[in-house]
Amino acid sequence: MNPQMPPKLVLPGVKQLIAVASGKGGVGKSTVAANLAMALHMTGRSVGLMDADIYGPSVPLMFGLGSVNPQTTPFPIEKYGIRLMSMGFLVSPEQAVIWRGPKVAQAVQSFLAQIDWGQLDYLIIDLPPGTGDAQLTLSQSAPLTGAVIVTTPGEVSLIDARKGVKMFGEVRVPILGIVENMSYFEDAGGNKTPIFGVGGGQKLANESKVPFLGELPIDPRVAWCGDNGEPIVRKYPDSAVSKAYLALAKTV
Ligand code: ADP
Repeated sequence: MNPQMPPKLVLPGVKQLIAVASGKGGVGKSTVAANLAMALHMTGRSVGLMDADIYGPSVPLMFGLGSVNPQTTPFPIEKYGIRLMSMGFLVSPEQAVIWRGPKVAQAVQSFLAQIDWGQLDYLIIDLPPGTGDAQLTLSQSAPLTGAVIVTTPGEVSLIDARKGVKMFGEVRVPILGIVENMSYFEDAGGNKTPIFGVGGGQKLANESKVPFLGELPIDPRVAWCGDNGEPIVRKYPDSAVSKAYLALAKTV
């Protein structure tokens, strides 16, 4: 075995371990991870969500939670039926985590290995953007079922999403598919306006020979819900974007 390679962790209670990844920040990766987890739960599956973004955790805010006393709080924390773990439970939002790569990798591994996730159909991992230490360690050490790559339709996001596809290929983690977020805005009259370009997700799926899992429209309520502690899929299950998430939950 390559001495650089961390040993594989074993998670016997978890049936599917899925990483949600993106090349670039700001494409909606954390939003997709949270809403996909919620949609899986709403379609009857037992679900955990692990926030592997140590420097910029967003799971607590998106689920209406904050930092807790780790001495008295058992992890994972359950909210809306989903088991959650995040660095944001351990530090306050104003506190910066200033760690070097190996320590970050260690924290991410301990979230997986030392927390009793119990029996789960799905454990979704919200990876930090890019192809750095945390992504690499996890891809090599966690028994990942596969990765979902989130991109927006434009070329700038695609350039980096391609690097993500390549990284998972190199560490032999299957890509379950590409999700295109912020594909278009639909007005009250049903007119769809593409804001950030057209067709990038499908193009990346085609060139990478992986499935295209679908488009998620732009909806200002997505951001509002994210900032106010309840994923849109739960708050507005009848919205077009929520329906797209519920469909996505049936394909992963
Ligand atoms: P990332 O994890 O890729 O950095 P986030 O999930 O934090 O991105 O999303 C970035 C911002 O875009 C957030 O404010 C989020 O609420 C918003 N957002 C994500 N997806 C959508 C969408 N489909 N429609 C509207 N806003 C969105």
